[in-house]
Order: sequence, then structure tokens, then C-alpha cells
Amino acid sequence: MITRSEGFVQSRVQSRTQPRAQISTQTIGNSGCWQEQLAGAITSPEQLLAMVQLSPELLSPALKASREFPLRVPRAYIHRMELGNPHDPLLRQVLPVGEECQHIEGYGLDPLAEQSQNPTDGVIHKYHGRLLLIVSGACAVNCRFCFRRHFPYQDNRLDRDSWRNAIEYIRADTTIKEVILSGGDPLANSDRRLANIAAELNAIDHVATLRIHTRLPVVIPDRVTDELINWFARQRLQPVMVIHANHANEIDDRVGQAMFRLKQAGVTLLNQAVLLKGVNDSASALIQLGEVLFKAGVLPYYLHLLDPVHGAAHFDVPDVKATRLIKEVMAHCPGYLVPRLVREIPGRPGKTWVS
Ligand code: SF4
Repeated sequence: MITRSEGFVQSRVQSRTQPRAQISTQTIGNSGCWQEQLAGAITSPEQLLAMVQLSPELLSPALKASREFPLRVPRAYIHRMELGNPHDPLLRQVLPVGEECQHIEGYGLDPLAEQSQNPTDGVIHKYHGRLLLIVSGACAVNCRFCFRRHFPYQDNRLDRDSWRNAIEYIRADTTIKEVILSGGDPLANSDRRLANIAAELNAIDHVATLRIHTRLPVVIPDRVTDELINWFARQRLQPVMVIHANHANEIDDRVGQAMFRLKQAGVTLLNQAVLLKGVNDSASALIQLGEVLFKAGVLPYYLHLLDPVHGAAHFDVPDVKATRLIKEVMAHCPGYLVPRLVREIPGRPGKTWVS
């Protein structure tokens, strides 16, 4: 008899149509607890290119682009890339490229105007009934398309005073039913700090749901520790985790097992993806992503159109293609595997559906 998590492993292995040459675990040196893996992330373009066996010709533009937004990628994530493939969909999400340095009209530093919806340090209140707490400026991975790649995290630190102000802001507004921990990556915090944050939110009666937006369990699945699982299981607040995966190859066996544990702890698991040229801009890639997520117990929630942030224009997929792709996904999948195609428009009290 096989367990469900082992079943995930087997079905994932069987779903691969072609073997991909990947870096061996031994070569990549992917070991240690999650904090050690976080600290040991690759930050040198030269080292990344050598690890995935790619031409040093890519180095010069990578170095130039990384001066604007540094490279950062954990070894556990590199392990899922295909050796020698400059078009690998995971590599493309993290390798700095020369196009990032071009200034394109309409692309700016604060594409969602978040800095005007920042009532107190560490708080972004742009949606009705819910708000974001920026509880970390750190990420395990620097995604080249990130809409917050220029966000002034240093001005939004939740130090003791600003944390008090944030809690008072939430306590005073009884319309806030849901608090979203965001960042950066909220799971870059220790389990103890997360428990302290949740304890204060637990004490506010009108807050019912605690949502965590995180990419860490995808890029370093060991982040899902026993302590984190126990913490979720003890929550008064309804726990929701929205992970961020853009391609099926990101969901390997270890990610599947981490999701399985979270699900067993009662966490509602959703995924948000960004539609990215050269990564997932085909119906087959989106269908496979939805299927692999579902096998891991995660429902596809949002498919975001790219936010126009400086440095990411080369990832843009035109609306007309995006709507065609989502129609193809709808034609092939049950409704629960079709993510909502959305765009975020500054000033609107929620995401805008694109159809
Ligand atoms: S993990 Fe999230 S916040 Fe961090 S760089 Fe990637 S998309 Fe941006």
C-alpha cells in the first residue's frame, strides 16, 4: 500500500514525458535546515551559470541587471532546472538578463501605486475587508518579474512602534475580517515570530482569517517545519496559504509532501501564478500546472497578468493571447482547475477579472 504523498511522488514521476538532465543533489550541496538553505542561496550569476552548465556569454548582461535587482535563488530550486537549457522555465524566472535594463514606457518603480495606500508603516490597505501586513522584506528567491522589486522595504520595517500602530489600525477598523501576511516572504520569519504575530491578531475579535502569501514552501520545501505545522493546527484564525508557482516543474516531490502536511494541518491551499512569456504562456503549460497543483492538494486561484514594473517588460503576454489561453484551459479542464485571469489596477478595491 502506498500513502497519498508517496502516490503524489509516483504520479509526478510518471507525468514526465521526457527525462531532463538535472544537477545531482550531491553536486548542488542542498542540505541543512531551511535557515541554512536560505543563507546558502546562490547570489552570484557566475556560480548559477556554472551550476546549470550555461555559456559564460550570459554572464555580462546578468551582472549588469543584477546591479539593479540582485540574483538570489536557493539550491533546492536550481536542482529542478534542466542542465544546459537557457530557456528552462525556472531559470528564466531567476536569471538576470540584459532586457531588464531597458526603460520601457508605461513600466515604473511602483506599478500598483502601493506607496499611496500605506496608511501606517508595514500596512497596505487597498482592498475592502482585508489588508496586507508587510512582515518581511526578505525573500528566498528574487523573481525577476516581481512587482515589488523596487519596493522600499527599508521604510516599511515593522519595528516595535510601527507594529503597535499596525495592530491599533486593525483593531480600530472592524470591517477588516482578513489579515494577509505579505512581504517579501512572510515565511522568511522564524516560526516563533510568526506565532507572536498571530497571537496578537488572534486577540482581535473581528479578524477571522489569516492568509499567508508565500513562495518559500515552493523554493525551499523544508520551510514547512513541524513547528509551523503545529502552529497552524493551533490557530483560532482560519488559515489560508497562497503559494506562488508558475510552472509545473516547480512542484517536485518534496514540495508535494510539504503541501500534503499543510493540508493535513487544516490549511486551505491556493496558488497564484503570473502569466510570463517564455515560462508558462501556453495552454499546455497552464493545464499541466493546474493538474500538478491539484495532485498536491492546491487549487489554482489567480493567474495574474504582468504588473508593469520596470525591468520585467520582456515577460509581458498581451491580453488577447492571455484570454485565448484561458479559454483553451477552460475547454480542457474542470472549472476548479481554471485560475481566474486577473489584472491589478491601482485604486480599485479588488482585482479586475479579464475575460
Ligand atoms: S518571492 Fe514573491 S515577493 Fe519575493 S521576489 Fe518573488 S514574487 Fe517578489
